[in-house]
Amino acid sequence: MSAAFIRRVPIVAGNWKMHYGPSDAHDFATAILGGLTSIPMVERVLCPPAVSLTAVHAVIAGSGVRLGAQNMYFEPRGAYTGEIAPTMLQGLCDYVILGHSERRGYFGETDELVNRKTLAAFAYGLTPIVCVGERLEDRDANLTERVITEQVRGSLANLPPERVAELVVAYEPIWAIGTGRAATAQDAADVVAIIRALLAELYGADAAQAVRVQYGGSVTAANIAEFAALPDIDGALVGGASLKPEFIEIVRRTAEAKGLG
Ligand code: PEP
Repeated sequence: MSAAFIRRVPIVAGNWKMHYGPSDAHDFATAILGGLTSIPMVERVLCPPAVSLTAVHAVIAGSGVRLGAQNMYFEPRGAYTGEIAPTMLQGLCDYVILGHSERRGYFGETDELVNRKTLAAFAYGLTPIVCVGERLEDRDANLTERVITEQVRGSLANLPPERVAELVVAYEPIWAIGTGRAATAQDAADVVAIIRALLAELYGADAAQAVRVQYGGSVTAANIAEFAALPDIDGALVGGASLKPEFIEIVRRTAEAKGLG
């Protein structure tokens, strides 16, 4: 199919981070499920902590709302204390967030490790949501393009060409995560254009046009429309606001901004 005819389904994912154990996760998923199911034109993904995946899975089964993990290891099994294998997520989750800046920053994840995890996700039938983003000091030193280029080339190397179109990339400037200071829509659009150009170079124009690219960083119901209105931004990865019923409004406004509401 020619790139001009590719229609990307918007995707909004809620990263609950280290919030909501099984019982709270069950209750919150139950509370927001009705609102989310009323907006099927956007792909909606809930990413609870690993211990709460089965509880949320039971709530959303058959609803069309998708389940994502926040991380995983790349080995299928073995002596890796505390880790979760792709084989354990297979059949339970649709998505897995990889290379979140908190994983990169607090747990030392490198592009090479994120790449191994991304390849494993594809190998085990999970769709990776791969996060990239620059630090404030990178942006201030005009290094954003260089940092993003390194992360994209490193984290997204050697992907199976026939699967690249399934990939989701989240552009999350680190200085915007959890700070209440979102990027401007123009800044986000500029970096998303860099990401698509790199994907085109690596995997061809059609694949680059098919990949969904989210914005993440202090997204709220009040600002999502600015981002979702941009043709090259396909939704959002949401942290703090995904812990509240506001998440439903973020999905709804994404649909409206895309002309699907
Ligand atoms: C995130 O953790 O991916 C994120 C974007 O967080 P927040 O929305 O809270 O900035």
